[in-house]
Amino acid sequence: MSIDLHFDRQHLWHPYTSMANPLPVYPIKSATGVSLQLEDGRTLVDGTSSWWAAIHGYNHPDLNAAVTKQLQQMSHVMFGGITHAPAVELGKLLLQLVPSALQHIFYADSGSIAVEVALKMALQYQLARGNSTKTQMLSLRKAYHGDTFATMALCDPVDGMHAMFHRQLTSHVFAPAPERAFDDVWLESDGQALREIFRQHHAQLAAFVLEPVLQGAGGMRLYHPEYLRLARALCDQYDVLLICDEIATGFGRTGKLFAVDHAGIIPDIMCLGKALSGGYITLAATLCSKAVADGISSGAVGALMHGPTYMANPLACAVACASLKIIQTGGWQSQVAQIEQQLQALKKLTQYPAVKAVRVLGAVGIVEMQSNIDVAKAQALMVARGVWIRPFANLFYLMPPYIIQPAELSKLLEALEFIVQQDVLQQGQALPGA
Ligand SMILES: *Cc1c(COP(=O)(O)O)cnc(C)c1O
Repeated sequence: MSIDLHFDRQHLWHPYTSMANPLPVYPIKSATGVSLQLEDGRTLVDGTSSWWAAIHGYNHPDLNAAVTKQLQQMSHVMFGGITHAPAVELGKLLLQLVPSALQHIFYADSGSIAVEVALKMALQYQLARGNSTKTQMLSLRKAYHGDTFATMALCDPVDGMHAMFHRQLTSHVFAPAPERAFDDVWLESDGQALREIFRQHHAQLAAFVLEPVLQGAGGMRLYHPEYLRLARALCDQYDVLLICDEIATGFGRTGKLFAVDHAGIIPDIMCLGKALSGGYITLAATLCSKAVADGISSGAVGALMHGPTYMANPLACAVACASLKIIQTGGWQSQVAQIEQQLQALKKLTQYPAVKAVRVLGAVGIVEMQSNIDVAKAQALMVARGVWIRPFANLFYLMPPYIIQPAELSKLLEALEFIVQQDVLQQGQALPGA
């Protein structure tokens, strides 16, 4: 039976769309490797990894086997008062991969919740140590940390996608988005604004929250690793925790296992999600140092006050174990390096007047246009060319599964070069997150 698109259009909300005038959706029947199979039999090369997640591709034999095996044991049991092998095994695998100072793991059920747990950890930690004034966060302009109310409050307050809720959101301190490009030369003066903000606000700050090196859904911006070293130093100097949101960047996407590795820094708290389960089932994790865990545990409450119903879901943990075992083989390094090299071809797109800038790091290629993209129109053109690339605001981006072959990536690159020459821009100024 075919997928009922009429029902979908009448009743199902898709991400960031209208119910009255929804964007078209494409019915996908199955997905294998780097290909999405449309219901009508056409196949599309996937340039998105389903929002950073499906790093090993779809329908992967090892990941399928892990889910199937776990399904025979149990799909789910509560994590309150119970533990199970997939949760413990995943914990061991994670601790082998993350910086060794991170020792304690909270399993959350989505990236946004992992960030919320990080905020709660920071607040409880500061409270437990008697720092009762340290109740605000420092976040960055152009940041994106999730869609729940606590995480919306960390997103760009002016031109982020949640600006309309500003009256309902907790007020935090914002620093300007880091300006110095990733491979540019860092100048001492580049850190001036951040140093000043710490000097002024440190007494209220519980933690500094940031996406290391790559600000994702807030504008796909790359910045200099030295900024992270400065952030680490200022956090140490002023007794502020550093929370690194690696939900998008973790597990090799930027060419290092974690984006913090570009700077050699270690956060106090790190959030993981998206690729954690290889794109199979929602799962996220918040990791923290022993000092943070000890601090929280020594407080008056003594417990970290969080516990989602589906915490440490065994199916999700089992497939995450299978995904991390593939990561552990190290094959991602040459795959990502190969993709990065091929993505350099995007740089020539700056010759087209509609293209404002091109940025490449690891297995991420970003084409920033002069104004917002007509998503429905651009998407239709790309589907007609056999590729799946999902623009937002004024951005096209490629972040394919690591297993993509050069010929498949060429298909994505050629389609993108074709698209930027078509009339796919809306009139008016670009608004990130619109
Ligand atoms: C996607 C994302 C989140 C939110 O994750 P969800 O699983 O969608 O809640 C948080 N932070 C960053 C950096 C992300 O890219």
